[in-house]
Amino acid sequence: MKKVIIFLCLIFLNGCNSREAIKNIDNIEDKQYKTTMKQDILSIMMAYPGYIVDIKVENDNVYLITKGNQKIIYDHKTQKSDEEKLNNPSIKDVLEQIYPLNDIDTLPEQNFNPGRVRLYSLLKEVYGHTKEQIESNLVNVKCGYRNYPFNSKNNAAKSLEKAMKEVSLLAEQSYHIRNCLYPISGTYNFRYIAGTNRLSPHAFGIAIDLARDNRDYWKWASREQGQARLSSYSKEIVRIFEKNNFIWGGKWGYFDILHFEYRPELIIKSRYFSKKESNGIWYEGVPLNEEIKKYIQLIDSKLE
Ligand SMILES: [Zn+2]
Repeated sequence: MKKVIIFLCLIFLNGCNSREAIKNIDNIEDKQYKTTMKQDILSIMMAYPGYIVDIKVENDNVYLITKGNQKIIYDHKTQKSDEEKLNNPSIKDVLEQIYPLNDIDTLPEQNFNPGRVRLYSLLKEVYGHTKEQIESNLVNVKCGYRNYPFNSKNNAAKSLEKAMKEVSLLAEQSYHIRNCLYPISGTYNFRYIAGTNRLSPHAFGIAIDLARDNRDYWKWASREQGQARLSSYSKEIVRIFEKNNFIWGGKWGYFDILHFEYRPELIIKSRYFSKKESNGIWYEGVPLNEEIKKYIQLIDSKLE
């Protein structure tokens, strides 16, 4: 009898322990989810300064409120395929895969494509809702001997100008860099991504294609050909564009090696928040100017 009671007690205690353990895992996951959410939202606010004016929590859903009074959801909280993320993205979907800022030597896995999911509602508000609006925001940026139209909003054209200045100085010294850069294939082009009803980032005037090689694009070339082109590509060009908040299509499984796209939210998230665990402060490492302090205050006050 005694033995049976002890046995039952042990089972009971064991049950308590595992319940406790599950609760702890839930707590840790909950904390990580919240930290990532705050970091994602801060990345968006820093990348599009002035465009996010408030944060709202309704029925457990978090929304960013834009200057143009749009409500952009942070997380749909449903399982989505990659195609669904491309067609109907949340902020979480856009920033889910962290863009790597290190040099790479091999093409990423097919399903690794950080930045290929785009938040069109925000892009339209920032760069223009229609072809006419976008075109009225374009300015010329000197790239080599020619001018190319790029969007003047949100520092996009200025960032291209800075990147081109630095990279063209290097090109004067290096045949290899010159060859990767020129002739530039194009910037603004109001078109849809082939085979989809999604606008190309070129349609917003926030992307540039450098010199074309037939092995550059996943639809034109095999992965082996893409890999060979990647191996021979100038790492200096990539580093300079990334420093100026451009992501590179060479770091996508669906590779697009001549393509650079102005996406400050991806670069900012990677620059400051790519380490898995920090020591408590969720915004550790971010440069704290007055503007950014205000963003952090807003985020902390709304998401406790
Ligand atoms: Zn392109």
